[in-house]
Amino acid sequence: MLSFLKRWVVPNVTPILLIGLYGYVMYSFCHELAYKLIYLHYGLRAFYLAAVVVYSLLAAITLALWFQLKFLADPGTFAPQQHLDNIEQTPYFLSDPYGFPLFCSSCQSYKPLRVHHSTNHGRCVVKFDHFCIFLNAVVGYANYPVFIKLLVWFTVKWLFVLIVDVIFVNRVFTVDRHVNIHLIALAIACGFWLMLAGGLLASNLLKYIGANFTTVEEIAKRKPLDLHLSVVDGSLRKVVKIDPDLRSSLFDTRSFKQNWNQVFYCYQDRKLGSIARTVAYILLPFFDPWFVTKTFVQNKRHAVTIWEYNAMSNVKISDESWEIIQQKLRLDDLSQCWVLSMMLLKEMTDLESPSTADLKQRQE
Ligand SMILES: [Zn+2]
Repeated sequence: MLSFLKRWVVPNVTPILLIGLYGYVMYSFCHELAYKLIYLHYGLRAFYLAAVVVYSLLAAITLALWFQLKFLADPGTFAPQQHLDNIEQTPYFLSDPYGFPLFCSSCQSYKPLRVHHSTNHGRCVVKFDHFCIFLNAVVGYANYPVFIKLLVWFTVKWLFVLIVDVIFVNRVFTVDRHVNIHLIALAIACGFWLMLAGGLLASNLLKYIGANFTTVEEIAKRKPLDLHLSVVDGSLRKVVKIDPDLRSSLFDTRSFKQNWNQVFYCYQDRKLGSIARTVAYILLPFFDPWFVTKTFVQNKRHAVTIWEYNAMSNVKISDESWEIIQQKLRLDDLSQCWVLSMMLLKEMTDLESPSTADLKQRQE
């Protein structure tokens, strides 16, 4: 029942409610506020026209960005990976408490670090952030810049509506002592969306971008489920349990600039790059550097392969956190330590499960 609510009702019913609200806000702003109050009541023709034009422009920008987020930009689907070549030699990988790599049964694929399964997307997503019920879209590493841009312009739009609404409601109330109910509803809607979008924007900028962290990692940190890493130590592999404190700073480079670049990193060497370039991308409504669009279109056609994943720097543990893990190993400060020989690990990961073999046969 709960899964039906989550998988069907929320993604299908919420957008209909939101479209209704969108239409109502447009009616209240353009007709009740701009036309009836500003134009007919006060006779401010130029102000009325300017308000409607700016509102339409802001609505068009947010709609275009939503369309890009929902239909053009892939969140960063991870291509199913049945084998992890030479995994026993990699410095570290995400593992279960016994030192074996994690596996996603839905995708029939190994799950490397920072790859999470999204039930709404039906696939594993690299740096999966969250499923936004308001936008009905999955946010991952590849469409994150569009999500932030949309949040900024969404905030700008509601701020504009609120300012115009408050100016004229205040003006009409001081003279007539009466205010149209639609204008009060408009102010309430503005307050709600501004708090939501502004709060999300602040938490994303300060917390998630500032510490190279994602929403899903934040939620997982609060759950009793432990995070384990299989770490190479000489000729053995040891399982290191990552405690909550280290968990929230696992990818934090301790430099805002570097974290920012990690978050807005797109594909290998193609990225938004400097802070100035990302800020320009976010603040200029229809400015979309060719590499952003190109990356997204490319993403839609093919999922992130393990080679592309391995080349990404934003899925790797930061040097600072790696140093802490090494220290734990040196001090043998492992809350739960399962030591596994490399040979055994290789044997285990080389075994093909029947379902994997079936899948391969079907592909051929
Ligand atoms: Zn999956």
